[in-house]
Amino acid sequence: MINRTSYLTRSFDVPEGYLLAAYERSGGYRSAQRALGMPREIIVDQVKKAHLRGRGGAGFDCGVKWSFMPKDDARPHYLVVNADEGEPGTFKDRAIMEKNPHAVIEGALIAAHAMGAHTVYIYVRDELHMAKARLEAAIAEARALGYVGERPFGRPWAIQVFVHSGAGAYICGEETALLNSLEGRRGEPRLKPPFPAQCGAFGDPTTVNNLETIAIIPTVIELGGDAFSRLSALHDFNDGGVRLFGVSGHVQRPGLYECAVGLTLRELIYDLGGGVLGDRKLLAVIPGGSSCPVLRADEMVHVLGDPRFAPYDGKSVLDLPLGVDTLRTIGGMLGTCCAIVLSDAADPVLALATLMHFYRHESCGQCTPCREGCGWIERILDKLVAGRASMEELDRLTEIASDITGNTICAFGDGAAQPVLSFVRKFRREFEDYVLTGGRSQTRTLVA
Ligand code: SF4
Repeated sequence: MINRTSYLTRSFDVPEGYLLAAYERSGGYRSAQRALGMPREIIVDQVKKAHLRGRGGAGFDCGVKWSFMPKDDARPHYLVVNADEGEPGTFKDRAIMEKNPHAVIEGALIAAHAMGAHTVYIYVRDELHMAKARLEAAIAEARALGYVGERPFGRPWAIQVFVHSGAGAYICGEETALLNSLEGRRGEPRLKPPFPAQCGAFGDPTTVNNLETIAIIPTVIELGGDAFSRLSALHDFNDGGVRLFGVSGHVQRPGLYECAVGLTLRELIYDLGGGVLGDRKLLAVIPGGSSCPVLRADEMVHVLGDPRFAPYDGKSVLDLPLGVDTLRTIGGMLGTCCAIVLSDAADPVLALATLMHFYRHESCGQCTPCREGCGWIERILDKLVAGRASMEELDRLTEIASDITGNTICAFGDGAAQPVLSFVRKFRREFEDYVLTGGRSQTRTLVA
């Protein structure tokens, strides 16, 4: 059963719903007013109880992450909101910034107070001009009323919020590359440790949170951590609340749908998305941004030894509730929770070749396996598509991707390797067809 909600999206269809007056009419800023009068530990505790998993891709528990910030440390603390949304197929943060910017600011005020920060940077991808303009205007409105500034809601805890524009590099969505960029350096990931909570922006304690994660914080405070967590069908998996589910590609009604955590792919694609474009058969889904392993539509769930998976055992992967740990357990990834749908008119070889052009272009180049490996994979795929690759080269795709995995500074390497490993393994026949016949027996031509 689909449990649609409208916490983040309630202003999406309201005329001028992005303005402060509309936000306050629907109860906006009451959570911040409350939270800024609460002890910091209580807020962190509520967020832990909410089992709010980061919405940016890694799915780390938000409350636990906040608790890593040092408490008795005189250095300035920073909250950095990651809105460098560049994952192919992902468009949820942009929608929040454009249609509900005050939720971001309210969430940032609460989060900053909870972590002892007086300064918030919202790092926005450069191309998102309307998003930046809406955020800037919303900050100005909040500042004019004193919600942002020296004494928010009369509390002696000064908080300043700034929008910082990136330059449009995918890698700046990685938290330490983002911090380098914020400091005016090249947007290249840093070696960890030290982690940002110890040494982040300008060498000081910093937490980097995804924008959707921050925007839902007022709802966590409004409902209370436990109640928020229980909205989810995956409360038992410590994956709480509601989130935005995106769907794009070969689907009738692409878009964003706010629902309780635990929606299935079948519900997302067929009930909310209206089914596969052109009434074709579903071939595959990339569940959450292009760096997640692809799932075939005919895959089944088989998980041994975990009773929580018993209801899904032997069933289609389309009927598995979408959650950080449910997908991880079957060898997949939820990522940004924005699914890319491929109908049976799509050619998985062309789809992977398109993805690898992107990853080769966006590698920052610091690590040899990622820099050289992505280029090598791209060249082999180009040969394959041209009908000039050998079976040995096809096998080399898997070898190179395996060698990238786990051998790089940041998660980009794994993110680039996962599509290769999963596409080649799950669509072996289609890839071999390009070797044997140059792809001439392929009738599929579409790329999602
Ligand atoms: Fe750069 Fe790739 Fe290494 Fe990440 S894995 S630091 S993107 S070269």
